[in-house]
Amino acid sequence: MRISLRQTFITLTLTALVVACATSPLGRRQFVLISDGEVTQAGVASFKDMQKKLPQSKDARQVAYVNCVAAAIVDDIPRLQTKGTLRVPSSWEVSVFDSKDVNAFALPGGKIGVYTGLLKIAATQDQLAAVIGHEVSHVLAGHSAERYSETMASQVGSVLVQATTGVNGQLIDMATNAFILLPFSRTHETEADLLGLDLMAGAGFDPRQSIALWQNMARAGGSKPAEFMSSHPSDETRIRNLSERLNTAMPIYEQAKAAGRQPRCS
Ligand SMILES: [Zn+2]
Repeated sequence: MRISLRQTFITLTLTALVVACATSPLGRRQFVLISDGEVTQAGVASFKDMQKKLPQSKDARQVAYVNCVAAAIVDDIPRLQTKGTLRVPSSWEVSVFDSKDVNAFALPGGKIGVYTGLLKIAATQDQLAAVIGHEVSHVLAGHSAERYSETMASQVGSVLVQATTGVNGQLIDMATNAFILLPFSRTHETEADLLGLDLMAGAGFDPRQSIALWQNMARAGGSKPAEFMSSHPSDETRIRNLSERLNTAMPIYEQAKAAGRQPRCS
């Protein structure tokens, strides 16, 4: 039997619909055209690319400090309350990039990048935890897959090709673009803020410090906006959303302290 182009298209559309049934950890419906395996592969490839392009910190104490905060955040993931799907990578890796830029990111596949310039603004372990919690939350919520799917859908012709060929060189470029260069939407930023707040609180970091962090950020400004500042909700909206969320984050924090989760990263 000869399969018509139309039938092929319908099959692909159905496949897409099946893949598209996803819900973010905060209960929002998501449009996702890419499998977890593909998004992980692309994230790992993007990270290797970054590691080649940027020098890494040789300050062992600094690296240990960032790893200490990241490990506490990641350890809290199983305790996170969720209304949807958490995309939890099988392992995590942290790179501290030697760069004046005030920036950080986390990629599917569990890859976390922190720039040394950030450590001047995120001045305490709790403030650094707010940034890492935010970045890790983008991964847990599958935001890159969504952003990537939007890029794919906007290039309908190539979607048919990509759906059958998987991740290749061109896709890695597109992934790097979608994962690192393009800003997240406001919806994604707000979700990462709120989920990140729960995450840092559960790890035993003071969630109130997230507000101090965004205030530091706003004051610092800078020519090259960081991931978490690039398409951010206005500072006031962000701080108001975080303040409201403290109603749920503070009890989580108190519980964490009572359970002995009190990170001492220095
Ligand atoms: Zn963000």
